[in-house]
Amino acid sequence: MSHTDVVVVGGGIIGLATAWRLVERSPKTRIILLEKEDQLATHQTGRNSGVIHSGIYYKPGSLRARNCRDGKKALERFCSDYGVAWEMTGKVIVATKEEQLPALERIYHRGQQNGVACEVVGKNRLSELEPHAAGIKAIHVPESGIVDYPGMCATLGNLLTAHGVDIRLSARVTAIRQSTNAVEVVCGDQTIRAAQAVNCTGLHSDRVAKMSGQKMNEQIVPFRGEFFTLKPDATHLCRSLIYPVPDPRFPFLGVHFTRTVAGGVECGPNAVLALAREGYR
Ligand SMILES: Cc1cc2nc3c(=O)[nH]c(=O)nc-3n(C[C@H](O)[C@H](O)[C@H](O)COP(=O)(O)OP(=O)(O)OC[C@H]3O[C@@H](n4cnc5c(N)ncnc54)[C@H](O)[C@@H]3O)c2cc1C
Repeated sequence: MSHTDVVVVGGGIIGLATAWRLVERSPKTRIILLEKEDQLATHQTGRNSGVIHSGIYYKPGSLRARNCRDGKKALERFCSDYGVAWEMTGKVIVATKEEQLPALERIYHRGQQNGVACEVVGKNRLSELEPHAAGIKAIHVPESGIVDYPGMCATLGNLLTAHGVDIRLSARVTAIRQSTNAVEVVCGDQTIRAAQAVNCTGLHSDRVAKMSGQKMNEQIVPFRGEFFTLKPDATHLCRSLIYPVPDPRFPFLGVHFTRTVAGGVECGPNAVLALAREGYR
């Protein structure tokens, strides 16, 4: 059995950022990070739209709104300090029909309350910002941006290793046993005894929480989001980020055009009920 102070389970952005924050707060803390894949950021973190969200949509004063605002600043600072590719491209949320205007107005007010720099623009200004977006009104959010999340995770991984964090890949946690003052994390034929374990396992977080004896009311129901990539001769059609007004009937869906840090443009995601948590095909 090996001993440490903290075990972080999961090598996506949340696990890596959690370990990094622990290092920043208390550099002497001994940390082991366990990731079941043979690379970091292979799941949600490496397969998302790469957008730095401004926090415009979230309920003012909510933890989510505050977390998004604080996280955005921390992310931008981190990427600037460590040379991770990011860009403040700006974003437009575009109403194409009259009936979307009240929702657009509500989002704008939320943005104002959350301290997001944003303005409502008409057709003319929209066509200056995004000449190929057909809308009747829009919100322009100049402070939204894009980032290389896998690149950020690679940088975090290198920093953590340089600060003595033991990152173990191909290390799937299969059991967690808790006692009053310690937690034992079982991974393959090894058991690690720690003062604390942090569950950052994304799509598996409900299962991993159950392993530790937690009673869970929540369960992950997987949906797969599919993206298209615009052909190179069509990428000029989108300059930054073009989003629709969210439809409350489909709260997790909002097909958007996203410029990536690599220079391409993606369009998606849709939402397909997936029969597997990591079923990407
Ligand atoms: C289609 C889509 C688009 C998105 N677009 C954006 C966007 O543009 N901007 C944005 O900010 N957010 C976006 N998100 C959300 C964002 O991607 C997630 O919130 C974030 O990546 C979650 O990170 P995570 O570390 O919690 O999860 P993950 O990246 O999934 O990492 C969890 C890790 O835990 C590991 N793990 C699981 N079980 C175990 C185990 N038993 N033992 C060891 N390791 C284990 C997994 O292998 C995985 O690497 C998007 C999400 C989706 C699905």
